[in-house]
Amino acid sequence: MSVRFFQSGYCTSHSKVVDRRTRFTEIPFAAIWALIDLPTGGYAMVDTGYSNHFITATQPFPDRFYRWITPIFLKDEETPLAILKREGISPSEISWIIISHFHGDHIAAIKDFPTAKFLCSASALEEVTKLRGISAVRKGILHGLIPDDFHSRVHTLEAVAERQWIDPFGLLRFSLSMIPDISWVSLPGHARGMIGFEFSINGKPILYATDAAWSSKAFEDNILPLPIVKIFIDSMSSMKNTWNSLHDWQKANPTGEIYFTHCPKTLKLLNT
Ligand SMILES: [Zn+2]
Repeated sequence: MSVRFFQSGYCTSHSKVVDRRTRFTEIPFAAIWALIDLPTGGYAMVDTGYSNHFITATQPFPDRFYRWITPIFLKDEETPLAILKREGISPSEISWIIISHFHGDHIAAIKDFPTAKFLCSASALEEVTKLRGISAVRKGILHGLIPDDFHSRVHTLEAVAERQWIDPFGLLRFSLSMIPDISWVSLPGHARGMIGFEFSINGKPILYATDAAWSSKAFEDNILPLPIVKIFIDSMSSMKNTWNSLHDWQKANPTGEIYFTHCPKTLKLLNT
């Protein structure tokens, strides 16, 4: 099994939102996604980063607000389709797209994979199905990014998992028989039903904790984002509990590393 990481564009936001101790400056949020070779052939992607569908989906109001809040930067050669083409992989070889959560910067290219099946948590699916209009946009959901036949292609982690259990740190975990060396980790707080995954590189445990935090530094020093993010974060108290569990995981795995999708440290994973 191999897990590779790629970046498809970035958006910008303000440093103080991520870490209130910093000077007020604009910082990039890289849109990183993962590609997993499936032992049975084909590939799974975890998230997709940005694509030009984001521009189309944020044309109408109220979805346009999303683009104003997080302006995006994406070169043609950085789209998932362009990256996969360079890797010699056709879109039809992507059997699964595992959606960590439904924020636009994580799912903007799912329309480019018409034969892929989707996998997400049951609670993430419930929210994306239920929320419309401004309530959806406030939670970072852009319905213009979601293919019309999405509901016939989506499966929940709870239904597909071979096993689910609570780990010693209080995190709900899932295993999938199609990807035996990875465990999927529920990371509530940032978005409803958000998930990440744990795997290992040369025996070293790696916990890819998606958007559980935005900055490793802020997470290590236990500096939560500014209260203003409560507007779109699902639950600040769940986020704190997730942070506590991740800190406990780090103490129990001193050689292990936690990565977050948008943290500059994560760019190191792109070259592993
Ligand atoms: Zn997010």
